[in-house]
Amino acid sequence: MVNKDIIIIGGGASGMMCAVKAKENNPDKSVLILEKQNKIGRKLLSTGNGRCNLTNLDADNTEHYHGSFKKNLKTMFKSCDMMNLMEQFSNLGLTVFSDNEGRYYPFSNHAGTVLDLLRYRLKELKVEIVCDCKADSIEKKEDSFIVSAGKDKYSCKKLVVSTGSPASPKLGSDKSGLSLLEKLGHKIVPLSPALCLLEVEDKAIMPSIKGVRQKGIVSLYDGDELIKTESGEIQFTDSSLSGICIFNLSSYVQELKNPIVSLNLNYDKDNYGQLLYILKLNKTRFKTREIKNFLDGFYVNKLGVALLKSAGINKLNRPVSALSKDEIDNICDTIYNWKFAVKKPADYSKAQVCSGGVFGDEINPKTMESKKVRGLYICGEAVDINGDCGGFNLNFAFTSGIIAGESV
Ligand SMILES: Cc1cc2nc3c(=O)[nH]c(=O)nc-3n(C[C@H](O)[C@H](O)[C@H](O)COP(=O)(O)OP(=O)(O)OC[C@H]3O[C@@H](n4cnc5c(N)ncnc54)[C@H](O)[C@@H]3O)c2cc1C
Repeated sequence: MVNKDIIIIGGGASGMMCAVKAKENNPDKSVLILEKQNKIGRKLLSTGNGRCNLTNLDADNTEHYHGSFKKNLKTMFKSCDMMNLMEQFSNLGLTVFSDNEGRYYPFSNHAGTVLDLLRYRLKELKVEIVCDCKADSIEKKEDSFIVSAGKDKYSCKKLVVSTGSPASPKLGSDKSGLSLLEKLGHKIVPLSPALCLLEVEDKAIMPSIKGVRQKGIVSLYDGDELIKTESGEIQFTDSSLSGICIFNLSSYVQELKNPIVSLNLNYDKDNYGQLLYILKLNKTRFKTREIKNFLDGFYVNKLGVALLKSAGINKLNRPVSALSKDEIDNICDTIYNWKFAVKKPADYSKAQVCSGGVFGDEINPKTMESKKVRGLYICGEAVDINGDCGGFNLNFAFTSGIIAGESV
């Protein structure tokens, strides 16, 4: 049996930050990270397309987060807000910059820098790390915990579980940490993939526009009921819609009976009348052009053709002058409200995060301590909270890790 004062299960973003704070605050206590993969911080290296979007200028705005822990965020951010997190990055020696959307990245533009600085600090503090060590059971015995990992046993007074979520399993994620917490009596809000692309039901049109990127407004409906609207760049793949605006809507889809995404690709957003006027004008201005080129002034040709086909326009080699009034109306409607029935996301492999996790009411937001098991702390994505795209998930992972580390 290996005895330690503080054990952290999971050496990801939140676990590493938690270990740094735990040891800084308790230099005389022994702190150990147990990590099931052969190295710590593997997922962190893949974040932000390898650039690590680590927080956001608007990170303390609770509207960017979803899940049962959301109502605790204001309290939590009173203990550690975005400026405190910045200070912590600075203490690690990390220089950051923000882009014009308020997203913060390491100045090196390289996720490896963030991981390296965390690793250096853990080494300086003499935090012990055991890799290739999957915790497979936790037993609470009076005022201590016994963690089993294969044949090895570890005991501690304070235990932190920061095992993340099963999103992107190729990076080593799974549900094992949540199962351990469930066995300790925690309620686990069912998991589903979030921040992922949305596969559309009718794929006939998609291969022709694969690779196209277009700015627009995206609205998610459940049947006729509007759920949420986002705007930004929409990316078309051969079977799915992607892009940050789509990712942000994906978190809601699992709950919907009849999820439909509507794209408004009108260059002037809400001005339907102006669009109709221009289309009618173009019909007379460019009457001898072929219909397949009718939308070339707005979109790359393949997107224009896909819109025309979706509007029910046939025989695209006819002259533009042949377009009927109804056809012009249909084109305008399609540009303004291009509908796609959406498949519910079920594939963790394409998700950046998961919704679900430990029920928010069971964790004290001032300390991240479990309200069910004394001495147990839970941080990062294991908690039922997920953020929008833009650095909000790492912000929560780091911030909750800091609070847990300062509280153990
Ligand atoms: C491709 C991708 C890109 C992303 N980009 C961004 C981004 O730019 N900005 C952003 O804010 N968020 C991003 N995210 C989300 C972000 O990475 C996560 O929210 C964050 O890493 C969660 O931190 P965590 O510490 O809770 O979990 P993780 O970082 O997943 O760490 C959990 C650790 O626990 C270990 N573990 C699990 N179970 C056990 C066990 N039983 N025993 C021992 N160890 C265990 C795992 O191996 C892992 O190392 C991205 C995610 C992905 C997949």
